Amino acid sequence: MDAADVSDDLLNVLYTEAQIQDRIKEMAADIERDYEGKELLIVGILRGAVMVMADMARSFHRHIEMDWMAVSSYGSGTKSSGVVRILKDLDTDISGRHVVIVDEIIDTGLTLSWLTSNLSSRNPASVEIATLLRKPEALQMPVDVKYVGWDIPNEFVVGYGLDYKERYRNLRDIGTLAPHVYS
Ligand code: 5GP
Ligand code: MG
Ligand code: MG
Repeated sequence: MDAADVSDDLLNVLYTEAQIQDRIKEMAADIERDYEGKELLIVGILRGAVMVMADMARSFHRHIEMDWMAVSSYGSGTKSSGVVRILKDLDTDISGRHVVIVDEIIDTGLTLSWLTSNLSSRNPASVEIATLLRKPEALQMPVDVKYVGWDIPNEFVVGYGLDYKERYRNLRDIGTLAPHVYS
């Protein structure tokens, strides 16, 4: 029903808004410590990483720069296909730059594995990955992730930027959807 509240379809809350905020502050503190004395560019992957980027960026006390990429893994719904295409490239020349890719979730790892090698070929000083969520059981490609918020079970989650058919991104918590949503 279209008028329904965005949280009405949740089966289970995995992480509350407060838990997410705390964890992102810790991740930002780790990154701040590791990049002390170095210029840092954080790259958000549209559209899912919008919330993580906004909150992580504001958790830094230091200067950072922000840029965005949009990629398509040729799939909608709940499965990723592994074929990656750049829909929006960086506006920044990253050669010689320290880059941290910020994403909301790593599932199969196909997108970020492809993206990491794509960005690495542009001669940056370094490329690392920060993701709020990771599903270790779903990994199909080895991805070296330096900063992880939480490892979660192999379940489809929504909220805090994560969508199901473009909905639920504006939910403040992260959770699983009730079965009736899929049927
Ligand atoms: P991967 O390439 O690692 O399989 O996943 C890439 C993208 O699939 C993620 O950035 C995200 O957009 C989507 N995805 C993977 N798992 C989930 C999930 O549990 N929930 C939602 N909403 N999207 C997911
Ligand atoms: Mg994403
Ligand atoms: Mg999606």
